[in-house]
Amino acid sequence: TLADARILVTGGAGFIGSALVRHLLAETEARVVNLDALTYAGTLSSLPNADGHPRYAFEKADIRDAMALRDVFARHRPTAVINLAAETHVDRSIDGPAAFVDTNVAGTVTLLTEATRSFRALAPEEQARFRFAHVSTDEVFGSLGQTGRFEPVSPYRPNSPYSASKAASDHFVRAWRETYGLPTLVTNCSNNFGPYQFPEKLIPLMILRALAGRELPVYGAGANVRDWLHVEDHARALALVLERGRPGATYLVGARCERDNLSVVRLICDLLDARAPTLGFPRRDLIRFVEDRPGHDLRYAIDPSLLEQELGWRPRHDFDTGLAATVDWYLANRDWWAPLVADDGDGALVRRGRA
Ligand code: NAD
Repeated sequence: TLADARILVTGGAGFIGSALVRHLLAETEARVVNLDALTYAGTLSSLPNADGHPRYAFEKADIRDAMALRDVFARHRPTAVINLAAETHVDRSIDGPAAFVDTNVAGTVTLLTEATRSFRALAPEEQARFRFAHVSTDEVFGSLGQTGRFEPVSPYRPNSPYSASKAASDHFVRAWRETYGLPTLVTNCSNNFGPYQFPEKLIPLMILRALAGRELPVYGAGANVRDWLHVEDHARALALVLERGRPGATYLVGARCERDNLSVVRLICDLLDARAPTLGFPRRDLIRFVEDRPGHDLRYAIDPSLLEQELGWRPRHDFDTGLAATVDWYLANRDWWAPLVADDGDGALVRRGRA
């Protein structure tokens, strides 16, 4: 599959991007160019099968840098582009929204501009199969009440600076198809989990803090519901979209797996108690309820029917088994995460380099 494809993956050193690059190299025939600025969130140690691979190239570049992009496009002439380069942490977007506008909005527009220039120089048969896939989030749709699901036609109602920046980028991607004829499509997915996720996000943060016997801060009453998707199921969905996705479509990616945050944190505690019973008390005792995040969406849920029906995608991982495997992965891969976290000495385990 994807034979003769030359796929430019932006953000391929991040959590989902690296899962996609690993998948494309292991399961398809595609050539892969990974373009990543290696911000605090990107590390090439997430790509153990890539270094020296004959179908892989790495380009350290920033999607805001038009000249750097032009050079990369000219040398690799991709037949598909998939954009995963972004600022992605909601809490950081509340502390400093400007970087989210710069990368997620302006960076996406710069990437669209250079992709269009490159697309127009391709041969007609390569233009016919060209795709620009933009990876976005269900958070653009805002919050659900107790019932209902997001659908491709759901209205945009972003509530955080992060989701507002992603929403804006989705609109630019659509506009580039309508205005300039670039064959674009958008995917909006739910919360991902799995190996190689940066320790600032809920699941790895809780795993590492619970492992170390630190307090586990849970926003509000822990009642916020997220629809969890294993990152490898997401990567397979994205590969299908690159191969057979329909320009103009919006594909929602989710595994019909809703869990409230408190249940997830409790499950992590129990999994660690069974694997590393070193503390002498149940790790659930570490849970502390802290003041809720401002603008915190109550519930997300995805209706993935279009992806299932059009592209035949089905998730392979169930949440409980996948979470247990993720806990095992963090226990076995200290070499990957230890360089990324720092102890602030005040009982907190924080991202290295965080202000
Ligand atoms: P991540 O933070 O783990 O990785 C982002 C990557 O982008 C990093 O490698 C970073 O170095 C790179 N990057 C950042 N700014 C860049 C720039 N200006 N130029 C080039 N590279 C840059 O993110 P992730 O969790 O893998 O998310 C990838 C995409 O998927 C994002 O667009 C995000 O909005 C979307 N998404 C993520 C989730 C999730 O649960 N993680 C859910 C829905 C959607």
